[in-house]
Amino acid sequence: MNVLSVQSVSVSYGGVHALSEVSLDVEQGQLVGLIGPNGAGKTTFVDAVTGLVTARGRMKLDGQDLTGLPPHARARRGLARTFQSSELFEDLTVAENLQITADRPSWWRALGETLGRRVSPNSAAAQALSALGLEDLAHASAHQLSQGQRKLVGVARALAAGPRVVCLDEPAAGLDTAESAELGRRLRAIADDGTSLLLIDHDMSLVMGICDHVVVLEFGKVIASGPPAQVRTDPAVITAYLGAS
Ligand code: ATP
Repeated sequence: MNVLSVQSVSVSYGGVHALSEVSLDVEQGQLVGLIGPNGAGKTTFVDAVTGLVTARGRMKLDGQDLTGLPPHARARRGLARTFQSSELFEDLTVAENLQITADRPSWWRALGETLGRRVSPNSAAAQALSALGLEDLAHASAHQLSQGQRKLVGVARALAAGPRVVCLDEPAAGLDTAESAELGRRLRAIADDGTSLLLIDHDMSLVMGICDHVVVLEFGKVIASGPPAQVRTDPAVITAYLGAS
């Protein structure tokens, strides 16, 4: 079953058609990559799905219509995201940064109703810390962290809300090759554990190495969609990337 289903979504900024009729599905526990050259519309897609920009088209989460809902209502239904710049509360510890996301009683009640069981904020924050391998940094202040560690905390913070789907906007930016590979292993494990992920990143070996399915945007349109092995050899994708370099 699709956890996230997006059909024919379009977004215009004034005269600029940032997205045209883009459709994309994410199944339970699936890791879907969304790639494309700079300016292709990837962040705009996440902004549209999370309700930060007005979009035409239809979007459903667990079969429920999201169209027209404000961002906080979408988040409460289980849609989480990270941002390109992971803004953390600098004077708080890593654990406190996660707890802020997790500690919302009404949120947890609503999520419990959706899932049909009680869910506890503390356990979700602890699980998110361990899912990203951040246990040893739990009591470090955010301002002490490296750029790579900040990205991991941004992902953990999104997970601490106990989401159904997390949209990850360039989580590997600022990570070195080894850190990026480690992040990839952790994202794969999170998806295998049942949390669906939509991954935007420019690190092709990361995206192609861990995703079940990859969607390619160029100039706001889907030019390819399929398993990584198929997308990697698609002539339209090769042209889009060679043309952009
Ligand atoms: P990148 O890989 O560089 O982050 P992207 O694929 O995420 O790029 P978007 O940031 O979604 O692309 O931009 C898609 C298009 O919409 C671009 O042409 C961009 O200039 C334009 N755009 C994005 N945000 C705005 C805005 N707030 N106002 C006007 N145009 C915008």
